[in-house]
Amino acid sequence: MVIIFCDKKYAFCYCCWLFGDESTKRSVWCTGYTDWKHLSKSAKAHGRSKAHLSSAIAASSFRKKLDIRHKLDNQITEEAKKWRTLLNIFSDTVRTLSGLGLALRGHRENLLEDENPGIYLSVIKLISRHKPILQAHIESSERVKYLSKTITFELLDILATETCQAIVNECKSAKFFALIADSTTDVAHLDQMAVLVRYVVINIDIPNSPKVVIKESFLCFVRLKKGDATSICNEITAILFEKFNFEKKYLCGQSYDGAPVMSGGSGGVQVKLKEFLDDGDGSFVPYIHCLSHQMNLVLIHAAEKNASSSIKVFFAHSHRRWEEILKQSESSSRTSDDFGIKLLKELKKKYLV
Ligand SMILES: [Zn+2]
Repeated sequence: MVIIFCDKKYAFCYCCWLFGDESTKRSVWCTGYTDWKHLSKSAKAHGRSKAHLSSAIAASSFRKKLDIRHKLDNQITEEAKKWRTLLNIFSDTVRTLSGLGLALRGHRENLLEDENPGIYLSVIKLISRHKPILQAHIESSERVKYLSKTITFELLDILATETCQAIVNECKSAKFFALIADSTTDVAHLDQMAVLVRYVVINIDIPNSPKVVIKESFLCFVRLKKGDATSICNEITAILFEKFNFEKKYLCGQSYDGAPVMSGGSGGVQVKLKEFLDDGDGSFVPYIHCLSHQMNLVLIHAAEKNASSSIKVFFAHSHRRWEEILKQSESSSRTSDDFGIKLLKELKKKYLV
């Protein structure tokens, strides 16, 4: 069939005009047909011509290609939508479970065969019962599932980096901050130091009653290869001022346990850090013996003296004593340096004498 389009003076063949070869382009159906009197007869003859038939075949295969491309585009959009939905479920589950501090992995991790494949995969299994797209994905023979430990750890890493950056940004906008650090040997016999920052956030969204919140946030763990004061100080400065780019002038306090390597007045970390920060303008970065550590020491010594029953059992097995310790921990005396000692003296007076 010949499809003809016309301007005011000329008629053209649609297929030949668009898809004709060089010789066809020179024909009257491409340069413009003007014999309007014999148009119908000539068009029929042109429709049977070899030149027109090859142009029509070219037009038809072009339409088919367009159709295939359209189908492929649809398929790609559907695939993208499916993977986006699945990845949203996976990352949201990892975020929720890690936010609750739960261990994600199980001893065995075969999602289809094991009854208890760990918390993360169990929750995924639960969601799949209500989400057909996830169920189909789990049961499919496709090798890429995005449920391996590698992908899960990658999601955790992304979340940890984002969270840490949010904390750093919040702390930087608060300007002044204090440092808290402490190390301990973990189950793998590695010395791990936790680095925290303490700062004040003032919510000025409510102008007449701004809300002031004191925040104490964990930044990262760092493995200590050497336990001397200089090495620990170098690790701390590298984290604060190189990794997270805090400004030295805004560090206004440091708090550690009472170990000589940290608290030592002549060669401890606190002195080394003061020396590092001192650029001649009299920087003041006082060291404060961590109150929680003081309390911990008090409890350890008290428990040692009270060998027949642990101090924990003493408080935890009586609701009256437990309420008392909670009440005391909320009292204003908590700000005093010897809070732990005071508390135990008060409790001893009340219950042990
Ligand atoms: Zn034609």
